[in-house]
Amino acid sequence: MKLKASTQILAAMVLGVVVGLLLGYFGGAAQYEETAYAKIAGNLLEKLDFVGSMFIRLLKMIIIPLIVASLVSGVASLGDARSLGRLGGKTFLYYMCTTAIAVAIGLVLVNVVKPGERFDPENAPKTAVATESEPPSIMSILEDIVPENIVDAMARSSVLSVIFFSILLGTAIISVGEKARPLAAFFESLNAVIMKIVGWIMALAPIGVFALMAKMVGTLGLSVMKPLAFHMLTVILGLALHAVIVLPLLLKVFARYSPVRFIKDMFSAVLTAFSTASSSATLPITMECVEKNAGVSNRVASFVLPLGATVNMDGTALYEAVAAMFIAQAYGIDLNLGQQLVIMLTATLASIGAAAIPSAALVTMVIVLRSVNLPMEGIGMIWAVDRILDMFRTAVNVWGDSCGTAIVARLEGERLNKQAATD
Ligand code: ASP
Repeated sequence: MKLKASTQILAAMVLGVVVGLLLGYFGGAAQYEETAYAKIAGNLLEKLDFVGSMFIRLLKMIIIPLIVASLVSGVASLGDARSLGRLGGKTFLYYMCTTAIAVAIGLVLVNVVKPGERFDPENAPKTAVATESEPPSIMSILEDIVPENIVDAMARSSVLSVIFFSILLGTAIISVGEKARPLAAFFESLNAVIMKIVGWIMALAPIGVFALMAKMVGTLGLSVMKPLAFHMLTVILGLALHAVIVLPLLLKVFARYSPVRFIKDMFSAVLTAFSTASSSATLPITMECVEKNAGVSNRVASFVLPLGATVNMDGTALYEAVAAMFIAQAYGIDLNLGQQLVIMLTATLASIGAAAIPSAALVTMVIVLRSVNLPMEGIGMIWAVDRILDMFRTAVNVWGDSCGTAIVARLEGERLNKQAATD
């Protein structure tokens, strides 16, 4: 019996956790230190790290060609530039509303649970604050959208610039008309070929996910988590409320699509997001699931997903708001309603500015902390558990993008899951 791709990935994830726990135990337990077990475990963890990073490299390798091919052919198939404007409007409305709801959930929860007040700074994991890197300013993000040199932008994987250029190219193809037909056909064909490669990479996902999970769990220090348990709980609870209640509700109402069915469709993407902690590395798989499993057209998916992976991060926005409030509470700083509204706004901006890579939120967190004069050292307090929370928030980021794609597709009059209906 051949297991479904998502079942294989789930099984690989569970196996990864078990193997990671075993390796962590043998590699880290004091009584085994310097023993043969510890050496073998350390060696295996290194190998797993290699396998996991090879998988991520494969995904990253295909991102830029995928965005260019799918977006150019997607826009070219729109027929006229006005439909692009309509699509853009709906997409941005969705991004903004869902991010604002996510931040609001985070702020309400953090005020109720008050994780920072339950935190004893004495127990704080001693992590040096590594916030040398300045967060990008709004101006620099805008500037980055228009590349000086498109080849350089592609080489730097500057997703927003590549999106901008691809939309421009697609729109030009539409307006040139007849003469540009061969170019449109070329990108369509390139897109089909790239998706084939994505399918091959996806077949390796169980191995990649297994290696990433085993490595992560094997090197995770449980002791650093204890003092931050309430912080973690608040973030995870907030993410869960957003992912399990808000987004499915929107999906049901606006896309008229069964949330249970949709999570089944998107399961491989959400699990990959969880284990890679990178929305952009997950993008090829998200694209494949949305188009092949849910039946969203390439014209909608190619527009909503790459943009969403870069700017629509509900999980990250929620996290940034909770983390800033946690730091304020831990330092005994009272923030009034007005200041919390400032956090709401800056957390949204910080999530838009965050790159779709692991731990990006910690860099843009500086924007939120500065806006209400909170101490930067606070980032050092939560650093130790960032990776694990990153996995949860990235899964929610990708789930949010996916729900948005289905909703926008439906609002554009598409009938979803055509393939499944004809099964
Ligand atoms: N890792 C997240 C993502 O790629 C960004 C972040 O929250 O740090 O979506």
